[in-house]
Amino acid sequence: MRVAVVGSGPAGGYAANALLQHRNVEVDVYDRSHAPHGLIRYGVAPDHQETKRIADVFPFARARLHLGVEVGKHSSHDELLEFHHAVIYATGAEVDNRLNIPGEGLPGSHSAREFVAWYNGDPEHAGREFDLSTERAVIIGNGNVALDVARILTTDPEQLASTDIADPALAALRASRIREVVVLGRRGVDHAAYSTAEFLALVDRADIDVVVDADELASPGRAGQPDAAGQDSPLARLRLDIVREAAARKPTGADRRIIFRYLASPVEILGDGRVTGVRIVRNEVSVDGDGVARARPAGVYGTIDAGLVLGSVGYRGSAIAGLPFDDGTGVMPNVAGRIVDPRTHDEIPGAYAAGWIKRGARGVIGSNKVCANETVESLLADYLTGRLETPSPPSPTFCVRPAKG
Ligand code: FAD
Ligand code: NAP
Repeated sequence: MRVAVVGSGPAGGYAANALLQHRNVEVDVYDRSHAPHGLIRYGVAPDHQETKRIADVFPFARARLHLGVEVGKHSSHDELLEFHHAVIYATGAEVDNRLNIPGEGLPGSHSAREFVAWYNGDPEHAGREFDLSTERAVIIGNGNVALDVARILTTDPEQLASTDIADPALAALRASRIREVVVLGRRGVDHAAYSTAEFLALVDRADIDVVVDADELASPGRAGQPDAAGQDSPLARLRLDIVREAAARKPTGADRRIIFRYLASPVEILGDGRVTGVRIVRNEVSVDGDGVARARPAGVYGTIDAGLVLGSVGYRGSAIAGLPFDDGTGVMPNVAGRIVDPRTHDEIPGAYAAGWIKRGARGVIGSNKVCANETVESLLADYLTGRLETPSPPSPTFCVRPAKG
């Protein structure tokens, strides 16, 4: 059996691994990037080198790796299917969610994705410039990406010098005047998107102060109302205790600090010609009929002065020509990894999805292993029951054109 895997990030790597456990399976891996490993290379923060080593388990040396090939542009789904029994799409979620507020396009306002790709040396973002000349930066959203960015902005650059951080980013951070990073969460601490371990790792650092405004720890409007996500679990209470402890600490006067704000949404990025700050509204949180706790403006406005604003509000996938795509959720509609027509629920023969393009931009690297394994199980079952068409023999002239530039 021959399978094409599109995307060499964690989902593609784990899918290739699961396929190559079986004898007589050949795998071609395609990636539009000129370097493999997806977000492990261009997303994971440079001070998390151990995490980057996870990519060592991907079996690309035993597969045929075609880099610089964008499926949908340099080759099509039909072309891949002509020479493979099946194609697994593991193309991730590379499009930023937007804030959709005034001022989002001002110079000095960027997505966290652009900033992360720049400090990780993604060639597509080489030559970018971020103005680090003011004292304060604001990050909108409080997921783990926001924490990565806050950490990189406040870490002594000499500690980053021994990592694989891109040279231009290291030089810019050495010259940076940013001393305070404000992380803005629209819901309360009990619904913060970051993981407790990542928050604890910040609080444990001696070289920065982590500041929490105790007044923002109570979530008005939701006391005693557990939501569908089970936020009143012992783990959630432990997290609240850890944040309360941080709020009770006296700042040490460290040179750099991260301020966690909760129950606050941006309503406008301010500036005349370039960013000067963010106008925010205080929220209250209430649990809706569907069991989800949502933030709603409570009408009190304030302004945070800042010269750099980074939106870190998640990602969505993008469509591949000729295959179904759900614009609402940003994923390829699928059942256990089998891509389906969303209207008829009919399976698209030979087309599978794994990773963030299958289930949305959620979860750590390891989550993609379980996800990719499920997809490979579906694919193998279809092969064994004769549901996959036999492709043409491999062709030396099969058009896989390298991307230019
Ligand atoms: P990706 O890793 O995005 O891989 C998708 C691949 O598909 C890319 O290589 C891309 O070039 C390729 N591709 C896309 N479209 C095409 C196309 N049309 N043709 C060919 N190739 C294509 N998790 C952790 O456990 N620890 C961390 O420290 C951590 N840090 C993170 C930092 C950031 C900034 C982000 C955004 C996420 C982080 N995560 C971390 C989460 C983790 O990176 C994801 O769970 C994982 O990368 C998703 O895997 P994926 O293979 O679905 O997508
Ligand atoms: P995320 O966890 O989904 O967080 C997105 C954040 O943006 C949330 O705080 C969300 O608030 C907020 N948000 C969304 N829309 C908003 C809006 N319009 N206004 C204000 N805030 C808004 O996304 P992420 O940080 O990009 O991380 C993606 C995935 O990668 C996560 O699963 C994460 O765990 C993983 N990751 C892991 C690591 C690690 O393990 N070290 C590092 C980086 C990333 P609501 O919660 O209210 O929606």
